[in-house]
Amino acid sequence: MTNFKLLTLVESVLGKGRSTNKGNVAFHCPFCHHNKKKLEVNMNSQHWHCWVCNAAGRKIITLFKKLKVERFKISKLFEYIEETEYRPKITTTNTKAVELPAEFKPLWKLNKLSPEYRNAVYYLKKRNITIYDILKYRIGYCDSGPYSGKVIIPSYDANGVLNYFVGRAYYEDDTFKHKNPQVSKDIVGFELHVNWNYPVCLVEGAFDAIAIRRNAIPLFGKTIPNQLKHRIIENNVKTIYICLDKDARKQAIETAEYFMANGVDVYFVDIEEKDPSDIGFGKINSILANTEKLTSEWLMEQRILGI
Ligand SMILES: [Zn+2]
Repeated sequence: MTNFKLLTLVESVLGKGRSTNKGNVAFHCPFCHHNKKKLEVNMNSQHWHCWVCNAAGRKIITLFKKLKVERFKISKLFEYIEETEYRPKITTTNTKAVELPAEFKPLWKLNKLSPEYRNAVYYLKKRNITIYDILKYRIGYCDSGPYSGKVIIPSYDANGVLNYFVGRAYYEDDTFKHKNPQVSKDIVGFELHVNWNYPVCLVEGAFDAIAIRRNAIPLFGKTIPNQLKHRIIENNVKTIYICLDKDARKQAIETAEYFMANGVDVYFVDIEEKDPSDIGFGKINSILANTEKLTSEWLMEQRILGI
């Protein structure tokens, strides 16, 4: 059965399509602009392929990303695909599969009668997370199972495949504030939301990245994953902001050195005591705007000071 909402969404990007066979719909190709409808998109498998220029992909999300489709359409895409057959799958780069907890409940589906739901939302509100963020990052919660009492923040790769998630307790008296899956952290956090054409900001945690809103990548720790290093270099990112707190200073300086050696402009964001998520969006972005570019002299000085 054709998913009409999905078809309408794809048509809003590619223009009117023409059904061919077996769920395939043909469109004018936005890459080679051939005068006939040569780009076929399968509305079931999501495979897409242009018979003329060979542009192709396995998921509609990669097509949308290539075309720099507006974010709200990407959100809609996830919504519609989930309704038919979308389930997060194993990423090719992770050795161990990461899946959301079986008890995961989306917070963007209102459930105001549930006290657990209300407590989870209340906790996020206190941390300055808006309903817009909940929808954008597809945040959920668990009220039972191993992640019971935790807000779950998923991270998706560029293809919309889950690559990590964090669990954060929404009750103050929870003995385990954090609970994260035992899977590789050699990933690009929130990659789905990263636009490599703009400066990226490296932060420690998911909440920090959400607080900064624009192009922030959580490391889910203090070290910078190799995949992220590669992605930054291969995408020719010109500018990086490093925004790690004081106890991660050594790693921050090492990271800065690595990128400067690769010709990237590095800005070292000094935030006194607090995490970006405590400082809030408006303030942190004005701090970012007022930060000076790192120099090799400064790095040398830090070495001499023995930090
Ligand atoms: Zn083409």
